[in-house]
Amino acid sequence: MSLLLKNLRLISPGLDLPGAAVLLEAGHIKKVFAAGQQLPSAAHEFDGEGQMLMPGFIDIHCHGGMGYEATSEQPQAIRSICEGKIRDGVTSLCPTTLTLPEEKLAESLRHIEAYRRAPSACKIAGTHLEGPYINPECAGAQNPAYLRQADIDEVLRLHAISPVSMVTYAVEMPGSLEFTASLRQAGIMPSCGHSNATYAQFKEGMQKGLKCLTHFCNQMTKLHHREIGLVGAGFCEDEVAIEIICDKIHLCPDMVKMIFKFKPIDKILLISDAMEATGLPDGDYQLGGLAVVVSDGAARLASNGALAGSTLKMNIALKNAYELSGKALSELVQTSSWNQARELGLEKLGKIEAGYIADLVLLDDDFQVKQVFLDGVAKL
Ligand code: FE
Repeated sequence: MSLLLKNLRLISPGLDLPGAAVLLEAGHIKKVFAAGQQLPSAAHEFDGEGQMLMPGFIDIHCHGGMGYEATSEQPQAIRSICEGKIRDGVTSLCPTTLTLPEEKLAESLRHIEAYRRAPSACKIAGTHLEGPYINPECAGAQNPAYLRQADIDEVLRLHAISPVSMVTYAVEMPGSLEFTASLRQAGIMPSCGHSNATYAQFKEGMQKGLKCLTHFCNQMTKLHHREIGLVGAGFCEDEVAIEIICDKIHLCPDMVKMIFKFKPIDKILLISDAMEATGLPDGDYQLGGLAVVVSDGAARLASNGALAGSTLKMNIALKNAYELSGKALSELVQTSSWNQARELGLEKLGKIEAGYIADLVLLDDDFQVKQVFLDGVAKL
């Protein structure tokens, strides 16, 4: 069944085409038409009313939403989270776990795998294990009771239940260098986070294949003029990708501006780091068993006020990045899906181009999600 999307402002890496059209067929993008080109007939047509069509968002760091955690014991949790995410324009998601005992992680992965095989909303692009191999001094909102030394065998046991796409760990902890190499060997992206590594320690990790920093600036060594730490590493090492939580809370607007000024844009990964309150009102929630209070959309641990994930949506992350960075959307659009697809090796995702999978989002001028196409089918 073919579907012609017309009257679009098509935005894809390197492109910003008003008056464009896209022909979808068999779940893929068949052809892109610039304004004025002769359009083919199709079984169905959809009028985009001049709104922005972009590649569907890929959120590689998300703990939950709609009142559920990705690590919930409730089997319906992942489905509910994914149904919420697709309304925010997310077409591929890496559900993200927290520092928990292995049996709890295994149970989460069993639920994720059941959904991954029969998705009803956004797709699963592998699970992101955030912890448990992190530095206790940088635990943030991760439960310190379950921290442990990096263990590739544990990761591989979990990976056998459901694919693990990335692991966040502290590279300075014992055994973490060999762990980095083993992750690379298994095709899993290593990402340093919740870490107080020095720049030198990070560079040792890079030699083993480390190439990403988890929620850049949050829960990592700050930039100091005699030890530039992980923040310095993110700025100095062009090859290293950085996740950013662009909610104006985790990073102040000036830091977001600085990142877009100094970091190659093809290495910036917008993430939500969303927790269960996302999509719901302010109130009392939890994160990995720790009590969290959400006030004005900011989620903080009840015990010490540490930030405990966000209530950010990917469309708002992109809107904030657009307003703060001064970058053209044809460049900026890389940061919400294309870069993630490349870093995780997700084939045929993140661009609007013939042959790519037709996972798309339609947004109005205020970045509100108006429609989402998954494998070429309208979902909202
Ligand atoms: Fe974190």
